[in-house]
Amino acid sequence: MRNRQTADLYLPRPILMTERRIQTFHVTTFGCQMNLADSSTLVSSLVTRGFRRVEKTADADLIVLNTCSVREKAEQRVIGRLGELSHLKKHKPWIRIAVVGCMAQRWGSDLIKQVPHVDYVLGTHRVFELPDVIEGREGTSPVMTAFGHENIDLIQPVKETPYSGFVTISRGCDNFCTYCIVPHVRGREQSHSVAHVVDAVCRMVAEGVVEVMLLGQNVNSYRYSGTDFPGLLQRVARETDIKRIRFMTSHPKDLSDRLIEVLAEEPKVMPHLHLPLQAGSDSVLERMGRKYTLVHYLKIVDSLRNKLDYLSLTTDLIVGFPGETRDDYQMTLDAVRSIQFDSAFMFRYSVRPGTKAAGLIDDVPETEKIARLNQLIDLQQAISYDRNQREVGQIRHALIEGYSRRSDQFARARTEGNKTVLFRTETPAIGKIMPLRITTADAFTLHGEPVEELTHA
Ligand code: SAM
Ligand code: SF4
Repeated sequence: MRNRQTADLYLPRPILMTERRIQTFHVTTFGCQMNLADSSTLVSSLVTRGFRRVEKTADADLIVLNTCSVREKAEQRVIGRLGELSHLKKHKPWIRIAVVGCMAQRWGSDLIKQVPHVDYVLGTHRVFELPDVIEGREGTSPVMTAFGHENIDLIQPVKETPYSGFVTISRGCDNFCTYCIVPHVRGREQSHSVAHVVDAVCRMVAEGVVEVMLLGQNVNSYRYSGTDFPGLLQRVARETDIKRIRFMTSHPKDLSDRLIEVLAEEPKVMPHLHLPLQAGSDSVLERMGRKYTLVHYLKIVDSLRNKLDYLSLTTDLIVGFPGETRDDYQMTLDAVRSIQFDSAFMFRYSVRPGTKAAGLIDDVPETEKIARLNQLIDLQQAISYDRNQREVGQIRHALIEGYSRRSDQFARARTEGNKTVLFRTETPAIGKIMPLRITTADAFTLHGEPVEELTHA
């Protein structure tokens, strides 16, 4: 007892310290561009309410983790980060920790039961209420996950660099692919109005943005008052001064001929399509609930390549889905070989509790999933290398984004096909679009030289 009293003399006084007012905050974002866009909106709403953003977590009174639930690994990273933050909170008991977004939605109050030093848990539709919650406004509580309270017009465009940014065109997803947690944690699809999207792009242009990425889980099902996605693309191209437009993600079941026409006709729309295939076997695609066959996918690719002079095609692939046999997997390898993607995001299947596929037997052993994934990565890497060799000798118009991450003797730019190209210069014209002749390439990066310099040489 005496020891404890003596020790108390040297400890911070918890009650007083925990009452300290929150003045500064730090937001860490996990996961996709959609989360980056949400974090940016959250930052603006906190700043508007008088909180000050700080660079380092250690300087923040409020630490926000905007989370991802797509794969188990993504959630484990958040749990790991929360473990680190428990040490910080021991030294600074007044700090507040907020977990927001997809993982907050999925776990709800269980998160606080499992990680008691978490103070606030706000699901995907409640993220922007964080300033109200920390101020203890009436009607709020530390755990809020109910859907249907989202004011989607709050969502702000977000800059990736001073010259490029994201604009969210729709939220949520109605597709319920059987492996995917997104519809469960983000709710039903809602499209932003055409006016909201056009206005967001205009505001970005006014701030110097040259290239915009329109974001949605499935942009092809965008619909607002009779305007579909190709219509929206045309309106953004024609009614704004943006120079380049990209979009992500396209679901093959909803990709229309009209979209291919717009890709071919609108010079501002970049010739890059991210079109997740997921698997090459029809029986796996069916069990994934993807609602297309490999033949349908191949027809789209043929049509795109026939109508466009140049197309960079990228995809997502999953190996080890429940019931995937060696033959099924071989069909994915064959499809990848025949389609020749420029690059791919490749994943091994991760069970997501609450999804339909979680009710199937996860029967591909982990070691086999890893072996399949490694083989697929090796194959795609060789294909990416070949695809990039085709770029050599071509002139690409690339948006200069800054210096190379490895050397300030080189500038980093992005081609029409969304490929990174490096070229030697000491004074890059950052934010400008410049013609570059591609000189060499590996599987990941192109190297080039400015065409003007070549002409003057
Ligand atoms: N809406 C997009 C679409 O339709 O492709 C992307 C959604 S998801 C965030 C991105 C990718 O993660 C998916 O295309 C899929 O390949 C992968 N993915 C989703 N759930 C997964 C799971 N349970 N296990 C492994 N990969 C998964
Ligand atoms: Fe998930 Fe499928 Fe929706 Fe993409 S389309 S977010 S993979 S459910």
